[in-house]
Amino acid sequence: MANKICPSCGRVFKGLARFCSQCGIELKKEPNKCSSPSTQLCRDAVFDEEDIFCRYCGALTTFAKERQM
Ligand SMILES: [Zn+2]
Ligand SMILES: [Zn+2]
Repeated sequence: MANKICPSCGRVFKGLARFCSQCGIELKKEPNKCSSPSTQLCRDAVFDEEDIFCRYCGALTTFAKERQM
């Protein structure tokens, strides 16, 4: 299950959480990102949900990594 992120404080929640426990704001799904962001390109990149590999370094995306676990 994808992580969710609070749009207000940036906390990351796992699993079934729907609201931030600090702000009471509805969480947003964390975007698909490079799982080993070693360069600025990787850190800034946001991928489609179906994308499996980072287009800059070839590492798995965070969504693909989660699917493997
Ligand atoms: Zn919050
Ligand atoms: Zn990358």
